[in-house]
Amino acid sequence: MKVLIVEDEKKIADYLAQGLTEAGFVVDLARTGLDGHHLALTEAYDLIILDVSLPDVEGWRIVQSMREAGSRIPVLFLTARDSVEDRVKGLELGADDYLVKPFAFAELLARVRTLLRRGTVATTDTTLRVADLELDLLRRRVSRDGKRIVLTAKEFALLELLMRRRGEVLPRSLIASQVWDMNFDSDTNVIDVAIRRLRAKVDDAFDAKLIHTVRGMGYVLDVPDAA
Ligand code: CA
Repeated sequence: MKVLIVEDEKKIADYLAQGLTEAGFVVDLARTGLDGHHLALTEAYDLIILDVSLPDVEGWRIVQSMREAGSRIPVLFLTARDSVEDRVKGLELGADDYLVKPFAFAELLARVRTLLRRGTVATTDTTLRVADLELDLLRRRVSRDGKRIVLTAKEFALLELLMRRRGEVLPRSLIASQVWDMNFDSDTNVIDVAIRRLRAKVDDAFDAKLIHTVRGMGYVLDVPDAA
């Protein structure tokens, strides 16, 4: 899951980015409204956390132009101003929820998960399934043939990506940008190692292998007959 944080206060921005990264999200950080506005309209995110009060472009404006452009990415507003007027304005312009500063990280995380759940429920099921492999997005659990598989946050993100794009050969560069938020120039060995670990957990104990290497191209997850 990829999240954009638009926040000019360095301390809060870094704190949020670190917390969400540790919780298994891929995080982009925009420190100005202009950057945030650009990213919100051009990149694919599952959720945007948006500070209302930014020095250049106000948070309101960003959500307004997102909605005008037809973007339905859930937006969580951060506001220091706990006035009814601010909340109403934000929600009217298309924000999905708001949080008043200061807030506890646990509360933010709870709101984020609720918004993602809402978004996911509207578009698709919250459990991804390929053959007997199941990935529960809400409880963040994976099982195969009914047996629980314990994954790290990165392994979970990697498996989620592979399952969401089942049958599609994913180049390492795409996996790097979606799961590690790094460029292809970075050490791609990281991806091969992670795939190996994931296979050990997901495939090794089963006859039907789901994760396949497509030589020179990347990786694909599918049932053996189709791959
Ligand atoms: Ca601010």
